Order: sequence, then structure tokens, then C-alpha cells
Amino acid sequence: MKIRPSNLACLALCPKFARVDNPLVTDAGTLMHEAIATGNYTGLSESDKGIAEGALAFAEQEKASLAQPVRDFVEKRVYCKALDLGGTVDRLMVGADGTAIVLDWKTGLNMPDDADDSLQVQAYMLGVLDDFPDVHTALGVLTNPRTQSTSVSMRIDRESKAGVTSRILSIIQRADDPFSAPVPGSHCARCRHSHRCWALVPTIRASAVTVLPGVLELLRDPTVVTPPPEIRSARAVLRSILERWCEAVKDADNEYLKQGNDPPPGFKRMIRSTGLRIPENERLAALHALRAAGIDDSIIAAGCNLALGKIIEAMTLVVGDKKEATALVQGAVAGIAVEGTTEYLTRDRKGVDDATLVAMLRKALPSGVEQDGP
Ligand code: SF4
Repeated sequence: MKIRPSNLACLALCPKFARVDNPLVTDAGTLMHEAIATGNYTGLSESDKGIAEGALAFAEQEKASLAQPVRDFVEKRVYCKALDLGGTVDRLMVGADGTAIVLDWKTGLNMPDDADDSLQVQAYMLGVLDDFPDVHTALGVLTNPRTQSTSVSMRIDRESKAGVTSRILSIIQRADDPFSAPVPGSHCARCRHSHRCWALVPTIRASAVTVLPGVLELLRDPTVVTPPPEIRSARAVLRSILERWCEAVKDADNEYLKQGNDPPPGFKRMIRSTGLRIPENERLAALHALRAAGIDDSIIAAGCNLALGKIIEAMTLVVGDKKEATALVQGAVAGIAVEGTTEYLTRDRKGVDDATLVAMLRKALPSGVEQDGP
């Protein structure tokens, strides 16, 4: 199995982990990375611009700590032979005395809170020691410019290299081993197997036992009740478990119908129109047709929902370079585009761990029924 350094942290937690990519999170992370790499903030929101500036200032501070002159690389490919693992270092600075600093920006939000995300940086540091024979010590720092949190500085020199290599190698070998057993935890929320993973059964059963005594209370119309915080929490646990399962069931049922199977007893096949839409490759033709029909641009614009990500994607095909396309598109709408945000609940395992939450919910559930097990 070809392993990506960014998956090492989750593979250390579960050898069967397979990441579900979230394009929204990935896109946001890529744009911020590009701004930090190029120093071109055109079109970034004021808050994101401040974040990118802070990251660059941090990098300059690290650079100043090295023996001068410094060889400075942005988005540098490195490769560790012993691990057969390559990756791109966000910023690599090599001091004149053979000390190198590897900086990795964590701009996405897709790491479970119990993952040891320094493993990715350590793999890069090993790659630097392989690719730069004059480097005797690699220092690694992982920093999240959004939260301004920074990891402790990691250090690998030629003497400690073998130990770190063997630790990461054992994670890779465990992931490659078909007999390795899955290990559940908060990382399951990012795993492609989570809707069908047998290792999750005890977790799901325990969660259900916890929330079921109060399930009738929990299922009261959520828009008209104002539950106390503990009940809201129990409801959120139940929702996240059911949501994941429902999505998988829906996909499986849709696939079953698509294959021409008869609907199961009690159900019938329905075909519902989702409205007329213009296929992506016909958008220009549609625009010309609307104009030819005398429909004013202001009316067409009012009916459009311009997704900048999509326009950047299309522009990249024209100019052949995503950074250039991003600067062009974002620059064009600077001062017009507004930043969208969303608010949602997510588990805070650092604040309240699973065992404490379960105990708290058992106490707080309205029925007060104690359950000993399934
Ligand atoms: S869902 Fe299963 S395979 Fe995926 S991370 Fe969790 S335990 Fe591992």
C-alpha cells in the first residue's frame, strides 16, 4: 500500500485507517498554503491575510535563528529511502552549519485530536537527512497559523535517525499487514470504512445503550424544545452515529435501484425531477442563449451563485497554474467577495474525554435508568 506522510498519524492509531477527503477543508487548506508559500495574499479575507502574514513572520524568525547564509526552499520535495516515502515540505531552511529547519503548516482542520501529527514532519526530516548529505541535524516544527499553536521543536540527527526510521517503519508495516486488526477511536470520524467497520460495533452499542434510556425524550421535536446542555450533547452523539449509518444505507439503496433491482417490499421506485440544470460544459452556450433572448446581464447575475473555487479550477485549465489562477480570480473580486463561515458542533475530546462524557450522560438522562450492558 502506498502511504502518504499525512496519513501516518492516523495509521499509527489504526492500521486500517483510510481517509475520507473533505474537498471543502482541502481547498481551504490549499489556498492558505499557497498564500503562505507565495506571499501573495491577493483576494484573501482580512482575517486569512493576517493568518498568512503571521505564518511568514514565524518562518522568518526561525530562519534568523540559523547560521547564515541560509538555503531557503518553499514546497520542497524530499524522499526517505528507508521508508520509501516522499512528500513536500512546506518550508525548508538549511543553515550554513548543517542544521536544517522543517516547517509544516497545518491549515486544515482534519486531524483527530488524539493523532500524533508530528509523525508526518518526522518523515520529512528523515527525507531531508537523506537528500542533503551536508545536513547533520534536522529540526522540525509543526504550526497551525489559524490557532497560532506550535509543536515542540523535534530534532533528528544522524545518530537518532535509525530509531525514528524504525518507529515509522513499524507503522507502515502494520498498515501493510493484512492481518492487522482495526483500532477504533476519534480518528474513525475521518475513515472511509466507518460505516461498515466491525471494530466499531462495541462503540456503537455502548453509545446506544447510553442514549437509549432517554431516547423518547431526545426525539421530541428538536425545534421546539430547549434541552439542557447534557441532553443536547446526548442528542448530538445519537445524531452523529445515525447520520453516518443513514448515509451509507442511502448510498447502498440508491446503488441497488440503479442496478435495476425491484424495490424491496413496502417501497416503490420514484423518479423525482430535481429541476432543469445546465451541464457544466454547456454553461457558456446557456449564457449566450439567455443574452440572445434579451435577458439582461443584471438578471442573469442575480440568478447565479458564483463559486470561486470552481472558477479557479476552470481558470487553472486556461493558465495552467493554480497559483496564478487563484491570484487572478481572487484579485478580480477583492473587496466584493465575502468570507462564508459555518458553525457546527464537533466532539471536544480534549475538553471532556469519552469515558467522562458517557458517565455524565448516564447521570443526566431524563429516565434515570441505569443500564449495565447491552
Ligand atoms: S473505522 Fe475501523 S478501520 Fe477505520 S479507523 Fe476506525 S477502526 Fe480503523
